[in-house]
Amino acid sequence: MHVDVDRLREDIEANARFGAVDASEGVGRTVLTGSEADRQVRERFVERLDAAGLSVRVDPVGNIVGRWEPDGCDPDAAPVAVGSHLDSVPRGGIFDGPLGVYAALESVRAMQSADVSPDRPVEVVSFTEEEGGRFGTGTLGSSVASGQRPAAEALSLTDDDGVSLEAALRQIGFGGDDTVEAGRWDSWVELHIEQGTTLTDAGAGVGIVDSITGITNCKVRITGEADHAGSTPMDERTDALAAASEFVLDLERAGRECAETSDAAVATAGKGTIAPNARNIVPERVELDLDIRDSDHDTMTRMVERCRESLTRIAADRGVETSLDRYRDSEPTPCSDRFLSAAGTAATTAGVESVRLSSGAMHDTANVAAVTDAGLLFAPSEGGYSHSPREWTDWDDCAAATAVLAETVRALASA
Ligand SMILES: [Zn+2]
Repeated sequence: MHVDVDRLREDIEANARFGAVDASEGVGRTVLTGSEADRQVRERFVERLDAAGLSVRVDPVGNIVGRWEPDGCDPDAAPVAVGSHLDSVPRGGIFDGPLGVYAALESVRAMQSADVSPDRPVEVVSFTEEEGGRFGTGTLGSSVASGQRPAAEALSLTDDDGVSLEAALRQIGFGGDDTVEAGRWDSWVELHIEQGTTLTDAGAGVGIVDSITGITNCKVRITGEADHAGSTPMDERTDALAAASEFVLDLERAGRECAETSDAAVATAGKGTIAPNARNIVPERVELDLDIRDSDHDTMTRMVERCRESLTRIAADRGVETSLDRYRDSEPTPCSDRFLSAAGTAATTAGVESVRLSSGAMHDTANVAAVTDAGLLFAPSEGGYSHSPREWTDWDDCAAATAVLAETVRALASA
């Protein structure tokens, strides 16, 4: 099979013109769900599906599917689905999402050109609001398609101006009434940029993801005493921020230690507030939001335990009150064995060097994996930049990873 690098590049470049932003550092775009740019990317995608002879359907939350029924396939067989998303973060890159959507379409076109006629239908998919850039909830469309969230609940989500997803989709003509049910798919594959440097460091052309990270979020509260910053001697203070600083260093230590045995382990205190937050008052209260991830759930729990131990110690040492609320806990998602074996063979067939790795970022694939065999491939990211106009993947690298995707889909659809 031959992946046409020029055709793929034209698709991604044409898609990138909608919502394009001025950026001296690279090429960027802003495509928020329900915006004019979103209408344009969707309409063009539908045109391209049409041009390749795929029949298009759109579900109530705006997920778009193009279906290819090759001659000689069993139209009643469960289809193999392949795709990603077309929305972006504000000032995002041009590959995050669109590469996976247009590589999916290119895979179908490559099979058509090579007269490959798989046994199963193939569905090319673009999920709505993967980034959560407008309605605040990431991987939204796939959560509905995989039955984890009722469509009505998603449609009633509102943006900062109170506009609902339902109204936004109606505005651009993409609130459909067709059915998209991931549970009916035989299998699912997504190609995405890595958003890290494992592939470029290894000189590999494709990453075969064996698991998608689990995520735990915790709210940590540390309470001391507000006092006058001038008249309170150092040994009479109960400074919540000084205590929180010790905690953050303990968190970093826990992350580093767990990373020695589990590559994907990371621990971050990325958000915080100080009260009263005044230059001349000793801080009374600090709240931190923690993001703890790994491909192993026990390791995530170990990092949380280390946080609790740290808080107990700091409370005893400094006289502060502490609490930790683990308010979110998503387990890591393993990719299916069927996918791993198909993708390994596909990389060999396509002559592309592959590495196994885990994904530290969340993807639609994690939702779909709950209801069918699912897998995720990575293409190299220059410098690891993403969610930024600096995001880049060379066109030949896009084509090589797409060739692996196409071979993987062919294998899955031929069984
Ligand atoms: Zn993405």
